[in-house]
Amino acid sequence: MNTKQLDKKYIANTYGRFDLHIVEGKGSLCYDDNGKEYIDLGSGIGVNAFGYSDKVWVDAVEEQLHKIQHTSNLYYTSPCARLAEIMCKKSGMQKVFFANSGAEANECAIKAAREWAAVEKGEEYYTIVTLVNSFHGRTVTTLAATGQDVFHEKFNPLTPGFVYAVANDKEDLREKVKNNKCAAIMFEFVQGEGGVVPLDKDFVEEIFNLAKEYNLLTIADEVQTGNGRLGDIYGYMKYGVNPDIVTTAKGLGGGLPIGAAMFNQKTMDVYKPGMHGSTFGGNPIAAAGAISIMERLTDDFMNEVNEKSQYIINALNGAKGIKSISGMGLMLGIETEKDAGEVIAKCMELGALPLKAKNKVRLLPPLNISMEEIKKAVEIIKTACM
Ligand SMILES: *Cc1c(COP(=O)(O)O)cnc(C)c1O
Repeated sequence: MNTKQLDKKYIANTYGRFDLHIVEGKGSLCYDDNGKEYIDLGSGIGVNAFGYSDKVWVDAVEEQLHKIQHTSNLYYTSPCARLAEIMCKKSGMQKVFFANSGAEANECAIKAAREWAAVEKGEEYYTIVTLVNSFHGRTVTTLAATGQDVFHEKFNPLTPGFVYAVANDKEDLREKVKNNKCAAIMFEFVQGEGGVVPLDKDFVEEIFNLAKEYNLLTIADEVQTGNGRLGDIYGYMKYGVNPDIVTTAKGLGGGLPIGAAMFNQKTMDVYKPGMHGSTFGGNPIAAAGAISIMERLTDDFMNEVNEKSQYIINALNGAKGIKSISGMGLMLGIETEKDAGEVIAKCMELGALPLKAKNKVRLLPPLNISMEEIKKAVEIIKTACM
């Protein structure tokens, strides 16, 4: 049997895959089993921050592979300690917990918020306000945090303690905070899976005002928006606010599974030994790769990301068949006149691989995609939208 047949027979039936078998890649380009070339505009859903088989990342990972691949969290290892230092220095946060995925990073943040509120205000203050159309993960608790009914239906009862406020509706948010015994507000600066919807600046201000007024934690889910994606190292820098807990994953590992929850002064001592943990968390190989990503997220590099973003927005804005562009940095959503699925299928045929988010065509290319590749991709998207 070939790969597609094996997959259909032996892989659990959770994914609707495209009829495409990717066999190798270099930078922002990848190739299928017929040797056809594609410009990768999804980077494995924002994971391959520096594209496929990036030399710096490969070297960092390979070097660590020859030292140790894993030990338990009973012992010290250098890569995760050094990665935590870089992340804290670049973010201004104080401490990091390492997990292996976005969902786990969020689980860590949710547990921390509950514990913080229980000690600070009392055990009944466990409710976390999240936003309608948010996405926080697939575990039973992060599903509960996810403000989309479609994800909930099959798996009730979900973890209690989440209420959903309408994104960018300050009144609704205030209402939800006022009417519940809350521990925290949790949000994405740009809702990714929810359709590349950025939060308004004044809505974000209201989140932080309410947090102060009602003594709540702010939890920024930067699983997708973090690690340079929005044109700043973390999304909160774009908005000029300082969350109490920041979670991230996706692009951090550059292709290997790693997630992280970062804590500020207020939350850094919530966890005590034994309260939380992970067998694989802080894995030396994943951490070594992540260091090579974080080290390259310099101001100059962020400027390049912003320039590329502006180029794409200018080139697509007002083009035939394109209604609007949303998002920031290299996390962009294109609202098309044609059905987004149809546009994506056409792009694939023409040699580009964008993603979908709700009714939009979503772009999450590698952060180091070249201008030449961007120009080619823009032409393909324009043709597909016509
Ligand atoms: C992808 C994503 C998650 C879930 O990450 P996993 O690694 O799939 O568990 C959580 N939050 C946001 C904002 C995401 O984009």
